[in-house]
Amino acid sequence: MNYQEIIDEVYFTVKNSEFEGQPASYIPELANVNPENFGIHLSTVDHCKYGVGNYLEKFSIQSIAKVLTLSLAYKIAGENLWSRLGVEPSGTAFNSLSQLELDNGIPRNPFVNSGALVICDILISHLNNTKEDFLAFCRSISDNKQLNYSYKIANSEKSVGYRNVALCNFIKSFGNIVNNTEVVLDFYYCICSLEMSCQEISNTLLFLANDDFRTNDHLQVLNMSQAKSINAIMLTCGFYDESGEFAFKVGLPGKSGVGAEL
Ligand code: GLU
Repeated sequence: MNYQEIIDEVYFTVKNSEFEGQPASYIPELANVNPENFGIHLSTVDHCKYGVGNYLEKFSIQSIAKVLTLSLAYKIAGENLWSRLGVEPSGTAFNSLSQLELDNGIPRNPFVNSGALVICDILISHLNNTKEDFLAFCRSISDNKQLNYSYKIANSEKSVGYRNVALCNFIKSFGNIVNNTEVVLDFYYCICSLEMSCQEISNTLLFLANDDFRTNDHLQVLNMSQAKSINAIMLTCGFYDESGEFAFKVGLPGKSGVGAEL
């Protein structure tokens, strides 16, 4: 299969499309990103690499980081994780509060903001130096010591993070956030600010595609069952627009009940 030809075609079709988006501006620093930047990179399990456009340009990976925090939390906490959040599509916007009230503070999945905040809380409970340890995990699985947070972007998000502040406090009111909400939010803004290029992202997440779920350096990140679960959750819960996620069901059981013991 000619992968380069395929991604070139996707690139030029999207680039020439009349449906143009806009950089998210609700985080002030993101409004300064060049809207012309657009790239695709494909890394294959047999070590081939294909890129087109600005695939070497670094940007803050925002919600993509939720896959990395979930991977580390799942590695540490195992199946206990699912007493704190679910694996179902939410059917509401990624930053919605309404669903949480009905679900007693149990986020629907790890990729909506509420779920990512609970995952951050779990990591804070388990790691000695949360920001440093999470960064070390990302550097290790990507074999890239250059990875870093952008404090400029993290601080920018923090300055306007009213909705995430509300979400975090709301979940805490149900007992599903254990740590200080400011500490949880501070870590959350950091993970969203992690800077990577398309090439770095595709290299980093390759462990979810390899048959043995190892990185290029043969580091076992997750066991097969865990990696398959994350792939399934990404497939069914990982895509959303401002109005809400695509609502098709994941084949994993969601558990309910508040349990902040992780
Ligand atoms: N940092 C963003 C937020 O909390 C992540 C959401 C996104 O990437 O869409 O709103």
